[in-house]
Amino acid sequence: MTTPAIPTRPTPVVTRFAPSPTGHLHLGHAHSALFGWRAARESDGRFLLRIEDIDPNRCRPEHERDLIEDLAWLGVAWDGPVRRQSEHLEEYRAGLARLQALGVVYPCFCTRKEIAAEIARAGAAPHGPDGPLYPGTCRALSDGQRADRMAAGDGWAWRLDVARAQKLTGPLRWHDRAEGWQDATPALLGDVVLARKDTPTSYHLSVTLDDHRQGVTLVTRGVDLFFATHLHRLLQALFAFDPPDHHHHPLLRNAAGERLAKRDRAQSLRSLREAGHSAAAVRALAGFPDP
Ligand code: GLU
Repeated sequence: MTTPAIPTRPTPVVTRFAPSPTGHLHLGHAHSALFGWRAARESDGRFLLRIEDIDPNRCRPEHERDLIEDLAWLGVAWDGPVRRQSEHLEEYRAGLARLQALGVVYPCFCTRKEIAAEIARAGAAPHGPDGPLYPGTCRALSDGQRADRMAAGDGWAWRLDVARAQKLTGPLRWHDRAEGWQDATPALLGDVVLARKDTPTSYHLSVTLDDHRQGVTLVTRGVDLFFATHLHRLLQALFAFDPPDHHHHPLLRNAAGERLAKRDRAQSLRSLREAGHSAAAVRALAGFPDP
């Protein structure tokens, strides 16, 4: 006779929803928020809210206020205080300094125009999931050349030297709950920008540092960021962080099959609410009907 298995409770996970306050939340955001929220609640874990507002040109306090109100209305309750990235620039600066000490970042003085011209000149530039890769122009500058350009007042960004970083870490893997184990292939994204002269961070750097600092154990986000995870895994290894688990979810699409964008006003949570939809109806539209 076989002994019936004792039902085991899933290990409590810490998840987060990390919107950028650049416009109103739409149904796609609601799907993503509910996806992370449900994973946390089902495991008796924690669900965190993080505001990714490092880009002062695009982020607005009124969008943050509205998205917090929209999430509360939707019934997505988060645990603990909201983390606002713009309040933690010193932590990102310190993270960048660690990468500088490892010798895996270099200053890049190229303008967008120069990069486009270099790619055009090279003919068949390698492409990544987000377009042509940075051709590596500034990787080869000598220390003297770098110092001269900085002294001349040229603006620069810090790029990750992916090949050098991978040499330090060796091969890496990461896990996705939908797709299984992945061999990390961060070179797909090229030498990405990790910080700019006036903003000491980028999406990739701050998300890696914050997920670790906040104790996130399950990163839930849209499948559009699947490739970014290859790079985040490399950054985690450089910082010697334990990697979290991942669950990339499919993107919600409109009736025409296009992914929803902040400019699709009709699908914003605000307009649905103003049109008289209840929170339960919007949760259902976002793919999470109440049980
Ligand atoms: N701030 C990102 C966005 O709004 C989300 C990043 C993430 O979940 O890692 O697309």
